[in-house]
Amino acid sequence: MDIQYDVVIVGSGPAGLTAAIYASRANLKTVIFEADTPGGKLTKTYEIENYPGIVKIAGVDLAMQMMEHSTSFGAEMEYEGIDAIVPHEGYFEVKTSSGNIITTKTVIVASGTRERLLDLPHANEFTGRGISYCAVCDGAFYKNKDVVVIGGGNSALEESLYLTQLVNKVSIVIRRDVFRAEPKVVEKVRNNPKISIIVKSLPDSLIIEDNRVKGMVIMNVETGEKTEIPCEGIFPYIGADPSTGFLQDLGVLNKAGYMVVDDSMETCVKGLYGAGDVVAKDLRQVVTATNDGAIAANSAARYING
Ligand code: NAP
Repeated sequence: MDIQYDVVIVGSGPAGLTAAIYASRANLKTVIFEADTPGGKLTKTYEIENYPGIVKIAGVDLAMQMMEHSTSFGAEMEYEGIDAIVPHEGYFEVKTSSGNIITTKTVIVASGTRERLLDLPHANEFTGRGISYCAVCDGAFYKNKDVVVIGGGNSALEESLYLTQLVNKVSIVIRRDVFRAEPKVVEKVRNNPKISIIVKSLPDSLIIEDNRVKGMVIMNVETGEKTEIPCEGIFPYIGADPSTGFLQDLGVLNKAGYMVVDDSMETCVKGLYGAGDVVAKDLRQVVTATNDGAIAANSAARYING
């Protein structure tokens, strides 16, 4: 049987793009499938300060550089989603969202995560006009206005710092009294005069006037007391869930939906690998994603070469 590819890579974030570099440099016929913007979460990140060798770079610039690099050794790029992966003896069928079926010897899934959406009445309706999940994309719409950021992880805090360059004031609302983000970022946030921090509070409802977001009601988790925060923009950064819907039937996911892999990034299905944020692990960073991508591609090469 004529198998079309050695490696199909699902997703073009840092993990997928690195896998493409390593696979194509190992002379494997490689294709990357991307359903969204190439570069993954990098394109929604203002700045990266912890990728070794580059002191500071805009997320979108690093994404572009990785993109160019990833296809420079012959890997192909297709702009399509993947609906299913079907394992067969010695090969896989990969079904694309347009109904095509691609055959490949191995698959590296680097499909990342999707941000959790704000679960409040009217939140969907006002997404893109008052509620935004991408400060880098939409921050400019809120120039000199007051905004609220929800969440205390790296994303919430780093994007809050970015927003301070544009907006009048950022109120960060966290549900505990401790942050999840790196201490250096927390320090910057605490020292920024444009940021105020509201602890032990959860979003309760949106304040809508004249069909526009005019604020948010938050509720103290201990006292139940409700407080109105006037604002024109709300940026929820409340974590993310793995993009693994198309892997449900393969027995490769843990309860939370993340891929379970071994040291070679291989799942319990031979020839199927996971890399990057989609994998069950402790540390989700650009550098750990690139690490995973390199290992997965190297493992795929070994598997193909017997
Ligand atoms: P995260 O680290 O999971 O943080 C999510 C935040 O949202 C937490 O503060 C969490 O509170 C809060 N939260 C969760 N559900 C909530 C709800 N329903 N209502 C209100 N608040 C809620 O997510 P993230 O910041 O998106 O980061 C995802 C991963 O990418 C992490 O591993 C992170 O380290 C990594 N990342 C790294 C960088 C970097 O290194 N520069 C940048 C961005 C992201 P609790 O703390 O109380 O659970």
